[in-house]
Amino acid sequence: MQKSIPEKLKGLRTSKNRDEVIALLQKQSAPMAVEDIYENIRKTNSKISLSTVYRIIEKLVNLNIAHKVTTLDDNKALYEIVKDSHTHHHYMICVKCKKMIPIDDCPVKELEKEIEDKTGFNITGHKFELYGECENCAHKDK
Ligand SMILES: [Zn+2]
Ligand SMILES: [Zn+2]
Repeated sequence: MQKSIPEKLKGLRTSKNRDEVIALLQKQSAPMAVEDIYENIRKTNSKISLSTVYRIIEKLVNLNIAHKVTTLDDNKALYEIVKDSHTHHHYMICVKCKKMIPIDDCPVKELEKEIEDKTGFNITGHKFELYGECENCAHKDK
């Protein structure tokens, strides 16, 4: 079971900047790059710096509140809030326009159970991404 965000933050100093980053990420339907997070927060909080946002993200990853979403383009790390295993979703990633389209269900859940039963391995998480061309890009070439 995933702990809730307030549980994960228990015992830590409160931080307005950190709360803003969490609130922003929670509103997103797709993962965000640190630069985009920074640009977004700067609109209402002009005192925040890019390095502060980097530090906050690093901290959130350590606390398992946010996690890095890998993409084909390794130079651009994207982050999203860690969702509990019942509501998390995976993405189809267009290799041409880099659009990320969430898929509703987790296709790995059943497989996880099967593998746990078979191997005794306690699976605590997984990554699953589909790469291809989105509807727009697939039609462009034809
Ligand atoms: Zn596309
Ligand atoms: Zn999943």
